[in-house]
Amino acid sequence: MADSEWSDILKKSWRRLSDLKGFTLTEEEKAFFSHQGKEDNLQFLVNPYYASLAEDVPDDPIRRQFLPLLSEYTILERELTDPLGEKSYSPVPRLIHRYRDRVLLLVTDSCAMYCRHCFRRSFAGHEGRIVSSGEMERIAAYLADHREVNEILLSGGDPLTCTDGRLESILKAIREVRPDMAIRLATRIPVVLPQRITPELVDILRRNGPLWVVTQFNHSREITAQSERAAARLVDGGIPVLNQSVLLRGVNDSVSALEDLFQSLVRLRIKPYYLFQGDLAAGTSHLRVPLKRGRELMKELRTRISGLALPVYAVDMPGGGGKIPLTEDYSVGEDEENYYFRNIEGQEYAYPREN
Ligand SMILES: *Cc1c(COP(=O)(O)O)cnc(C)c1O
Ligand code: SF4
Repeated sequence: MADSEWSDILKKSWRRLSDLKGFTLTEEEKAFFSHQGKEDNLQFLVNPYYASLAEDVPDDPIRRQFLPLLSEYTILERELTDPLGEKSYSPVPRLIHRYRDRVLLLVTDSCAMYCRHCFRRSFAGHEGRIVSSGEMERIAAYLADHREVNEILLSGGDPLTCTDGRLESILKAIREVRPDMAIRLATRIPVVLPQRITPELVDILRRNGPLWVVTQFNHSREITAQSERAAARLVDGGIPVLNQSVLLRGVNDSVSALEDLFQSLVRLRIKPYYLFQGDLAAGTSHLRVPLKRGRELMKELRTRISGLALPVYAVDMPGGGGKIPLTEDYSVGEDEENYYFRNIEGQEYAYPREN
């Protein structure tokens, strides 16, 4: 079976403290596991491939993404279990219709590892259930009725934890009613389990196109021979690949880490699309970077890397406000004749109001 390598790796996933024998754990890390189960059960799972990218030091950028700390049980007053208010935008189960022309489908709640910063952490890893065929029928009916929707995001959880067969039946159910629609597959698999990107999978994605893959590299150390090969298979197979990073404290909150990440992605033919400010997900404050710092980082990056390498820094507003781009404002004023702007070297230029 061609897909056995990735499913074997997944089967060997670590779920318990005793699986972490290769790591010298800090008190904060150990304390998470003694607390787990006493309160709301926070998920811990990492597959051995992703764990193998980490070095055994507490501030390692890979380790911080998969190894939980006791402080995840500290919930700040402004943090929320549904930080984007997605529940109020769900017309049928598993579907979120927040923006007029695009919908998001929660394909599964399973992932190949649970990210400590996940904003859907109260959903991811809780049920272990893929969208059912009955639910897909209602979703297909909704898509057939709502012609203003011309793009569907397949999200979760991680849709690529599904087998080829399950995935193909979901894609086919969409294609039956809307052959025209763009599909955007949001997945961390190229980063956390790149062995899943098999030639057979790429074939299925291509046959059910137009389809874009959006992945989530957060650090250049996640780029390995395996993830490079996964990216090459997708792009060579005619699938455009974009990346959404999350700005994370102790992982990528420096100019050099972000510069290195974004330039490496361009070399892999992956376009950095968004850099997200951390959402106010319950128990993630230790990973959030102040918004002001994010803006400073972006301002500096703008002077260093190409437009192709630079993503849009954005924040998803708590309570369902949606995505707001935090683009830097270059305008410095206007008069009857001109608009005035400051360029990246700090010099002022004028552009006429009327052409
Ligand atoms: C982010 C998001 C989208 C896509 O937004 P883009 O700006 O097009 O990337 C669509 N639906 C939901 C619910 C989202 O959170
Ligand atoms: S892969 Fe995505 S959905 Fe799954 S835990 Fe990570 S961020 Fe959350």
